[in-house]
Amino acid sequence: MPLIAGILFGYLLAKNKLLSKHLKILADTDLLTGLLNRSMFIHLLKTEILKTSRYGGTFSVIFIDIDHFKSVNDQHGHQAGDKVLSDFSQLIMEHNRISDISARYGGEEFVILSTSSDIEATTKHAERLRTAVANHHFETAGHITCSFGIAEFKKDEDNYETLLKRADEALYDAKQNGRNRIEVRN
Ligand code: GH3
Ligand code: MG
Ligand code: MG
Repeated sequence: MPLIAGILFGYLLAKNKLLSKHLKILADTDLLTGLLNRSMFIHLLKTEILKTSRYGGTFSVIFIDIDHFKSVNDQHGHQAGDKVLSDFSQLIMEHNRISDISARYGGEEFVILSTSSDIEATTKHAERLRTAVANHHFETAGHITCSFGIAEFKKDEDNYETLLKRADEALYDAKQNGRNRIEVRN
């Protein structure tokens, strides 16, 4: 009897651990796109800041916002818009290096933490993605474009909020300057 109870206890414990793991993944993931969600992204960004401040190196953040996405919904419907968001996320993943971290920041806004990358390398990364998106035929909406804002981490100056603020301001510049383009804020 104690043996059976022991086996049962072990089984339940293992099942519980697996369940907790699944729940943790669900809590960190955006359901529609499968990318990380904003809160997990910020957690990993803070970790990257600590690591870079301590051990050196650099990294950059890319904010991406789909251009005129409201009209995608208006013309093709909300479900078609949802499919664009998940296809778009797939393109982001295809252009990431294994060490890059990408998330759905909210709505039709995405963010990439480009590890070990200065502005120059990050701009090239963003340019490859911008071109790929502009040339892609989205099944439910045809062609769309997106705008990018980039900022590089400044050691001894930035916290995660100031860094994200600069990337967001750069994105604002990209929208103001005509969309489907990349802008940088130093
Ligand atoms: P801009 O080029 O200035 O970014 O224009 P925009 O139309 O992309 O920006 P706006 O902020 O006016 O509209 C964003 C739209 O994104 C409105 C909202 O309904 C849509 N949206 C946000 N989240 C979702 C979603 O999960 N699914 C769908 N289908 N649409 C979404
Ligand atoms: Mg937006
Ligand atoms: Mg938009």
